[in-house]
Amino acid sequence: MDFIKPSLGTLTNSFQIRSNPKHFGIDLALPGNVSVKASAAGTVTRSYVSDSYGEVIFILHDINGQPYETVYAHMRKGSRKYQAGDTVKQGQVIGYMGSTGDATGQHLHFELHRGRWNGTKSNVVNPLDYIGDIPESVKETKQIIILPAEAESWRVYPLDKQPIKGNEAGYLNPKKFGGLQYNIVGTPGQDIYTIVTSDFGKVNIYGARSTGARIFNAS
Ligand SMILES: [Zn+2]
Repeated sequence: MDFIKPSLGTLTNSFQIRSNPKHFGIDLALPGNVSVKASAAGTVTRSYVSDSYGEVIFILHDINGQPYETVYAHMRKGSRKYQAGDTVKQGQVIGYMGSTGDATGQHLHFELHRGRWNGTKSNVVNPLDYIGDIPESVKETKQIIILPAEAESWRVYPLDKQPIKGNEAGYLNPKKFGGLQYNIVGTPGQDIYTIVTSDFGKVNIYGARSTGARIFNAS
């Protein structure tokens, strides 16, 4: 494939230029640390902070003599790894998904232009017509655990203790936050998941289906 999906995530907003409001790219959303990858090999043409795009990188590609330009917007503050003039390989991590600029919630806004990007976006095309699967070499399999908003509190346990009542390291409050979700970084036992929380660090959580917790594949 000439172009690959630039990040993991679910498609939360499609390409749409036939009616208003227009959307000149696709949005891919996923919580946590989500790397953003060059969709094809090329040369960085712009890397800056825009009011609307936020932290953004533009990459110019040459596909059999045809120039294309891709745009990776709303990346996490300070996460841009390359500057104009740098060359990147396909699948190379160029930054991390964020919500900088004109964005509500963490996502990657990705544009593909057949020809150069321009202010009227006259060369824009639907990325989904060009994107193949992420090559095996850059594929990451991730699972996330979602603690629903209905849950009042959720026990978390130190990694070195059995996840049973009395061993709690603390409590999470999904209700307070309208639900919580974490990347699963380990599965030390049946229905036991290791997550990293801001309050308690790396802890285990009991997430059997009967608890209301839900496990999703993030890719
Ligand atoms: Zn968008």
